[in-house]
Amino acid sequence: MTSPAGPQRIDLHTHSTVSDGTDSPEELVGIAAAAGLDTIALTDHDTTGGWDAAAAALPAGMRLVRGAEFSCVSPDGRGGRASVHLLGYLFDPTHPAVVAEQERLRTERRQRLHKMAALLAADGYPVDPETVFANLPPGTTAGRPHLGQALVAAGVVGSVDEAFADLLRNGSRYYVPTPHTPVETAIEMVRSAGGVAVFAHPLARRRGRVVEPAVIADLAGIGLTGVEVDHPDHVPEDRELLRGLAGELGLVTTGSSDYHGTNKSTPIGVETTRPDALEELVSKADGVDVLVG
Ligand code: AMP
Ligand code: FE
Ligand code: FE
Ligand code: ZN
Repeated sequence: MTSPAGPQRIDLHTHSTVSDGTDSPEELVGIAAAAGLDTIALTDHDTTGGWDAAAAALPAGMRLVRGAEFSCVSPDGRGGRASVHLLGYLFDPTHPAVVAEQERLRTERRQRLHKMAALLAADGYPVDPETVFANLPPGTTAGRPHLGQALVAAGVVGSVDEAFADLLRNGSRYYVPTPHTPVETAIEMVRSAGGVAVFAHPLARRRGRVVEPAVIADLAGIGLTGVEVDHPDHVPEDRELLRGLAGELGLVTTGSSDYHGTNKSTPIGVETTRPDALEELVSKADGVDVLVG
C-alpha cells in the first residue's frame, strides 16, 4: 500500500522490550506510525514473543512484517569464526525447531548474563546478578543492554553507551560470549519454517570480527535470501561492496534502523528498504503473512 504522503517507507529491523529495546511492541508500532513509516518489521533477538502484542496494536494502514534476529556463529572466511546475526522473516513461529532453539538461546543468554553480573559484582560494581533479570517477564530475551541499564541505575556509568564503551565491550574482562546457533543451521531452520533469511549488518565492524565476502556467497548457496546493506553501522564503502556482492549473487538488499529505543541513539526509520525488495522477500516466504492494521 502507498501512503498518500509519498512513497512507502519500510524499516525491516527493530527491537522492543521483548528483547533489548526500550519500547513495548504496542508502543513500537505507534512510534513507527508517528515517524511516517508504512511498514515495520519487529525483529527481537531470539524470540517471537512480541508478535501478538504488536499485531493487536497495529495502527490503521500500517503493515507488520513479523520476524526475529537470530544470534549465530559463522565461519569468518579466514579460518576463524565470527559472531553474526541473521534476520528471519515471516516464518511459522510454532515450527518445533524454531521454538526449541529460541528457548535454548534465551535460557543460555540469561545464564551468560548472570555470569557477567557476577564478575562485575566480584570486582565491587553494585549489580546483583539475582535481581538484574528478576523483573524481565518470562520469554524476554536478556542482553547486555539490560546489564548496561543496571549499571546506569547503580550510578556506575551515565549511559548504556558508556557501559558498552568499557565494562560490557567484547574483550572486556567481564565479557562472556553469548550463546549462538551455527548460521547454516539457522538459515535451514528459518527456511524450513517457511520464512526468508537475511544476513543482518554483515559488515558492522564495531561489533567485532566480520565475515569475508566468500562466506556470504557460501550462505547464498544454501538458502540465504538477502543482505542488510543500509544499516547505521555500515560505512559507505561497505554498503557499496555489499550492494555489488548482492548483485552478483542475486541477493535481495534491505535497509533498516535496528532501532532499540533509548538503548541506542539510532532513530526509527533512519534507513529504509525499497518496496520491490520487500515484495521479493514476501514472494519467497509462506510461513505467516504480512499483517495490515
Ligand atoms: P548481547 O546480544 O547480549 O551480546 O548484546 C549485544 C546487543 O547490544 C546488540 O543487540 C546491540 O544492539 C546492543 N549494543 C551493542 N552496542 C551497543 C551500545 N554501544 N549501546 C547500546 N547497545 C548496544
Ligand atoms: Fe540488540
Ligand atoms: Fe544485530
Ligand atoms: Zn538488531
